[in-house]
Amino acid sequence: MNRKIIAGNWKMNTSLEEARQLSKTIKENVPTTTNTEIILFPPFIYLPAVANELKGSRIKLGAQNIFPDNQGAFTGEISPKMIKDFCEFTIVGHSERRSLFNESNHFINQKIIASLENNLKVILCVGETFEQKNNGLTTQTLTNQIEESLMEIHDFKNITIAYEPVWAIGTGVSATPDDCRAGIEIVRRALKNISDFTSADSMQILYGGSMNSKNTTSLLTQNGVNGGLIGGASLKAQDFIDIIKQAEQIK
Ligand code: PEP
Repeated sequence: MNRKIIAGNWKMNTSLEEARQLSKTIKENVPTTTNTEIILFPPFIYLPAVANELKGSRIKLGAQNIFPDNQGAFTGEISPKMIKDFCEFTIVGHSERRSLFNESNHFINQKIIASLENNLKVILCVGETFEQKNNGLTTQTLTNQIEESLMEIHDFKNITIAYEPVWAIGTGVSATPDDCRAGIEIVRRALKNISDFTSADSMQILYGGSMNSKNTTSLLTQNGVNGGLIGGASLKAQDFIDIIKQAEQIK
């Protein structure tokens, strides 16, 4: 059975009440079949409330970002040690963090190491910009991101990759199924270059970028696609539930 991961990145959205309501509606409408692993990524400040709301359900929780140290003089930051009581996962290397906050592959690597040390599972985002794609730099970009972000990490079992072409994030223009499959093949090849084939083959690779209830099946049925990281559509309970229902049907 090819169990798909469906992850919802809420970004900097919702009020406390909306976060509670959204997680409650998703919890109440999750299919009873269990062919998907569902993970919600609310804003940090709502993690305890959403964790409380999801009690007794199979839906898992994660943070959208993390600082690569456990404590210290880092005003405004949140550490892996702080969140591990509330959630199991963290996203690292989202393209918004890379572009808006200048996060380098080296910094992302430090975040992954600190997260794994705290037993947090990691979703590492990689992806090329529109310019890089048009200049034929997709393979080089994805390979660099994989190699540098995973430097000195030898055990990949708690790491999932999300291939998120930057040009498809929040634009309403998702990658075509062919683009999605091609990007994921590049990521898988890059993983094989830095690990043994078995580890690379068993790693899960998600697609992210304007995924919605209309394109889910065509994207998730591509060879090598193990699930989706969903932004905008994860904020609409009905859309997100539809996406989960479609993923549940894929064998
Ligand atoms: C994301 O932010 O990871 C994402 C894929 O966003 P969207 O689905 O809105 O493109």
